[in-house]
Amino acid sequence: MSNEGNLEVDVMYGLKTVLSQIEAAVARRSKDLPQVSPRLVAVSKIKPVPVIVEAYEAGQRHFGENYVNELADKASDPIILAKCKDIKWHFIGHLQTNKINKLLGSPNLFMVETVDSEKLADNLNKQWLKLRKEEEKLKVMVQINTSAEEAKNGIEPAQSTKLVEHVLKSCLNLEFIGLMTIGQYDYDTSKGPNPDFLTLAKCRQEVCDNLKLDINKVELSMGMSSDFENAIELGATTVRVGSNIFGARPQKAKTN
Ligand SMILES: *Cc1c(COP(=O)(O)O)cnc(C)c1O
Repeated sequence: MSNEGNLEVDVMYGLKTVLSQIEAAVARRSKDLPQVSPRLVAVSKIKPVPVIVEAYEAGQRHFGENYVNELADKASDPIILAKCKDIKWHFIGHLQTNKINKLLGSPNLFMVETVDSEKLADNLNKQWLKLRKEEEKLKVMVQINTSAEEAKNGIEPAQSTKLVEHVLKSCLNLEFIGLMTIGQYDYDTSKGPNPDFLTLAKCRQEVCDNLKLDINKVELSMGMSSDFENAIELGATTVRVGSNIFGARPQKAKTN
């Protein structure tokens, strides 16, 4: 019965496979990089509640969604609330101002990975003060558009220090966790390390140098199903993996 709603895909198998691939990639990672063991965010977008419960019961705790309404609905679902008490939601999509309250009101919201302007940081800072249930800061990452594609959100790499400094100095209800990128899809790693991941790691180095931050405490969220192992080798501390765990999504069918 645990496969209810997702008969074709063995979520537990997918999860175990990804976790062992993560472990193997950690072993290949350069010893010069911060030795943080990467966090797996299981990206459950479009996938129904029963498969989230299945992954949770297999031990997974961090889940990611990229639409506010979908995250809010799933986070408040009575089955999720009853069976997944320790679930940790990551918001990984583009955040519009008019959706901030809905997002921040979602139960068990753990982190917003996509802060890409001072205005958004200021709004989150202000609204979190009103909506938070405990004296805890909201964890945020700053999203960087490492591939300079117009369609992608995120600030330019050269703006990273400025935005991180703003979060640290002017947004006292936010906790700066690290940098995030989406990057170009389906980069061919036979051509060498993914330039997006190198760029994000370079941004972290610059931000840490400029703001005197400890590099071991600034995370990198990068890598998805097609490239999370490469991302870990280059220092990812968070990988966001969807289809390798939950099966392909309809609109990505062309990549299969
Ligand atoms: C969908 C999505 C992912 C996961 O993609 P997969 O290729 O299914 O692993 C990761 N990050 C973001 C921001 C996404 O929107």
